[in-house]
Amino acid sequence: MSNLSFVSPSRNSPWGTYLAQIDAVEPYLGRLQRWVETMRRPKRALIVDIPIELDNGSIAHFEGYRVQHSLTRGPGKGGVRYHPDVTLEEVMALSAWMTIKNAAVNLPYGGAKGGIRFDPKLHSMKELEKITRRYTSEIGIIIGPQQDIPAPDVNTNGQIMAWMMDTYSMNAGATATGVVTGKPIPLGGSLGRVAATGRGVFVIGRETMRRMNVPMEGARVAVQGFGNVGSIAAKLFAASGAKIVAVQDHTGTILNEQGFDMADLLDHVAKTGGVAGFKGGDKIDNEDFWDVKTDVLIPAALEGQITQARAQRIKARIVLEGANGPTTPDGDAVLADRGIRVVPDVIANAGGVTVSYFEWVQDFSSFFWTEDEINVRLDKIITGAFKHIWETSEQHRISLRTAAFVVACTRVLEAREERGLYP
Ligand code: GLU
Repeated sequence: MSNLSFVSPSRNSPWGTYLAQIDAVEPYLGRLQRWVETMRRPKRALIVDIPIELDNGSIAHFEGYRVQHSLTRGPGKGGVRYHPDVTLEEVMALSAWMTIKNAAVNLPYGGAKGGIRFDPKLHSMKELEKITRRYTSEIGIIIGPQQDIPAPDVNTNGQIMAWMMDTYSMNAGATATGVVTGKPIPLGGSLGRVAATGRGVFVIGRETMRRMNVPMEGARVAVQGFGNVGSIAAKLFAASGAKIVAVQDHTGTILNEQGFDMADLLDHVAKTGGVAGFKGGDKIDNEDFWDVKTDVLIPAALEGQITQARAQRIKARIVLEGANGPTTPDGDAVLADRGIRVVPDVIANAGGVTVSYFEWVQDFSSFFWTEDEINVRLDKIITGAFKHIWETSEQHRISLRTAAFVVACTRVLEAREERGLYP
């Protein structure tokens, strides 16, 4: 099924999933169909070798990637992921979803993503720093404040961004705060950035519920993944009157029909590193998570979680995609058949990159906004983008995912057409 010689994805793999989403949008592109093949090819993909000396004196090599799927509407933008399952194919899909996400929200960016294939939990801080710095130096030939701006993603954070910013700046001979976003506040980071992805998930969830007449008070919410995205979204839902009835993370799955006490749960996770062993709920089998009756189910972990089989079990009214690519094409089809509303990743989790954009703008102007200003502007931008996507979905009678792709691909391909082919 691959259109490219260097990957061989299956239908439900990340790149296969993305290609199926592009196939679905094609009939709605009108004259821009002529340009659609652009979407099926990353503009540029860089594979780098990262050799470091480990604490025990031996030499280890890691494989790193940076893929710039599109630079048509502006610099590349997207996170960097540290995970043992990272592959070129996965990073390609994640970079393409950044193109769609940035265009769906109308941020002046293309789409990019990076990753290193390793398990950061098995390394000391010193080793993590060496891996991060060498990776940054290797991809330094294609990143930059005007070229491509990395940010945190799975298993990366403000500390990693600080090392990336420093390494890039040392090589450039001048401090370049705008080369990455998601930095610590004293290094040009933005207030509200850490919570922004989870906050965006909540805001888009709230907007969806309002349109579907699902009351927030007492709404049943389940969350898969309790990292930066899932935990903050859960906290905001609970603070607005919803009940968090099930949570799954890498340590296990817990259930409480009455809703968890969020302060206790967050405290437990901060102390023990996961939800397992939490006294305020019952442990259930991991696969039984998909049977829990909910109003809103939030997959906020990795790709490919909602398979065809799991989609048949899901008892939710709304699937709110906090993760990137959590639903496979086969899973998506089953959810659509069963009348379960899917709010796609490219708008549901766009809060993170939206505040990254604010951070980048603040770095350029060296003028910083209050947290309140950030949150108000975030809410306004993603709510407006969601409204446009919702109306597009009603107009063409298509899923919210295909509607988001219509909005985004139209913007990207109009820019493509207007710029013309070089040479
Ligand atoms: N990694 C986040 C995402 O998947 C944020 C990317 C960014 O801020 O550039 O959207």
